[in-house]
Amino acid sequence: MVKDTKTKNILVVDDTETNIDVLLELLGNDYEILVATDGITALEILQEEEIDLVLLDIMMPIMDGFEVCQKMRQNPKTRDTPIIFITAKSDESSIEKAYTSGGNDYVTKPFKAVELLARIQTQLKVRELIYNLEQLASFDAMTGIYNRRKFFELAIEIFNTSKENLFAVMIDIDNFKLVNDTYGHPTGDKVIKILAKSISENLCENTIFGRIGGEEFAILCHQETREIVQQKIEQLRQNVEDLEVLSNNNNVIKFTISEGIAQADFDTKNIDMLLKNADEALYKAKESGRNKVIFH
Ligand code: GH3
Ligand code: MG
Ligand code: MG
Repeated sequence: MVKDTKTKNILVVDDTETNIDVLLELLGNDYEILVATDGITALEILQEEEIDLVLLDIMMPIMDGFEVCQKMRQNPKTRDTPIIFITAKSDESSIEKAYTSGGNDYVTKPFKAVELLARIQTQLKVRELIYNLEQLASFDAMTGIYNRRKFFELAIEIFNTSKENLFAVMIDIDNFKLVNDTYGHPTGDKVIKILAKSISENLCENTIFGRIGGEEFAILCHQETREIVQQKIEQLRQNVEDLEVLSNNNNVIKFTISEGIAQADFDTKNIDMLLKNADEALYKAKESGRNKVIFH
């Protein structure tokens, strides 16, 4: 994760003491520098710490820089961490291999200080821009929870990993149109925000929660039994009964939600089908009087 306010952490991976000293001297004032003198230690540090950028030597014993780079790209935690190779190797095939291994940039030794500094800044800036774009593309601006696109992306991944004991829940605010019509759209927005907050605060681990439509939300979770899911989802409904929202002209508003749950089974071919089943259960909850939880 890229941090704006904090000093950036740079991991220097090099087996030669003098090279490390030069980089410490050059970067030590502006960045937090961590050092690894071999590839295995580098990967361990990357797993444990939040590293913003890696300066990577190629020629090292046991594991060379190319392999470190490839391993970083296979690990979700370091998949997008900028890597700049700093190496004495200037032949074309090494340069090519550095990029095909997943490196972002390549600097040959001896390097010019200004050039290395500029390249580091560029890579950090690019990473930050990508991170900000990813945030915009993944989270709903009003509620801060996953948006429809991200929810489905994660849901497909989860479904494909294991559909055993997998449950989907569709949630919809009851008579929400009435809230908008009576108190105005901004108050309706407030209701949506407070609902998203209430549910977010009461979710258990291994659960994803997203806003998939105007006043429609979805949950996907693994749970051991139907009973546990039923109880947890019922609790979310009850929590909402206790909420109070102040309208723009200071009326206290109460509202309710309906929820439909579906469990994946052998016949559930994909995530769309699972959510459709949950939606059918939600429809039944609406039909039979709202403010209730129905299992498909
Ligand atoms: P039901 O109990 O059957 O769900 O009734 P409902 O009135 O909630 O259902 P309906 O789907 O007819 O109305 C949903 C309303 O939600 C319509 C739409 O104007 C409103 N809505 C959708 N997105 C937003 C939003 O972001 N903010 C506000 N304030 N209203 C929204
Ligand atoms: Mg509704
Ligand atoms: Mg609706």
